[in-house]
Amino acid sequence: MIIIEKTTITAAILDMDGVLWRSDESLCDLKKLFSSFEQFGVKVLMATNNGLSTVDQYIYKFDKLGVQIEPWQVLTSAIAVGYLVKQQLPNGGPVYIMGEQALFSTLEEFNFYHSENEPQAVIAGLTKKFTYEMLKNTSLAIQKGIPFYFTNPDPSYPSPEGNIPGAGTILAALETASGIKAILAGKPLPFLFNVGIERLNSKPSETLVVGDRLSTDILGGQQSGCRTALVLTGISTRADYENWSPKPDLLLNNIMDLFSL
Ligand SMILES: [Mg+2]
Repeated sequence: MIIIEKTTITAAILDMDGVLWRSDESLCDLKKLFSSFEQFGVKVLMATNNGLSTVDQYIYKFDKLGVQIEPWQVLTSAIAVGYLVKQQLPNGGPVYIMGEQALFSTLEEFNFYHSENEPQAVIAGLTKKFTYEMLKNTSLAIQKGIPFYFTNPDPSYPSPEGNIPGAGTILAALETASGIKAILAGKPLPFLFNVGIERLNSKPSETLVVGDRLSTDILGGQQSGCRTALVLTGISTRADYENWSPKPDLLLNNIMDLFSL
């Protein structure tokens, strides 16, 4: 069992990049990780701010690494924004969408479709095909006074070339151009974690959020009332941890260390 301050952990919400893998390089033996969670009686769900891939693409990636997961076990910022908009527009309908294909297809599952004709909201996220034309048209749609949703605010993300522009860079451009602040769905807002807790049917105090970034995973986990574990296999360093408050419950060199506490 994993026990934190006398509470037995029954569920875990894992970040993927920087926790399970870095690009295509695995950071642990995934098969062993998932069988250990099962042995320890912990239900697992993955939550990522990366909205560029669909659930099916993640299932395929896990499958290639020897682990079978179910669709409910993956939450992306694109799915989170779908849940968030659905709260206001329960019947779906026409919305103005700017983002990658994964955002369009994910929102379709929530019965939203792209239309420039009387959209009820603007929903945007990172796209690597970003142009001035897209910025202009999306900004004009936002200025019509309909709600403006955005997937997640990460300013940049690591790549083999160094830190490259993330969703937050495009968010800043849209907010600057339109003068209107977006409603956010992804980490560090607690919303994505709250959806995860609901899917896991667990109590926040018995749910452990594992992530490599203090400002998104740990902050968001803490805000949703979960226990948190920072792993040092990704973005945040031990020095970042020393300077961070309040501290996560656990500091791990690798996620596998959870099973030898
Ligand atoms: Mg990460």
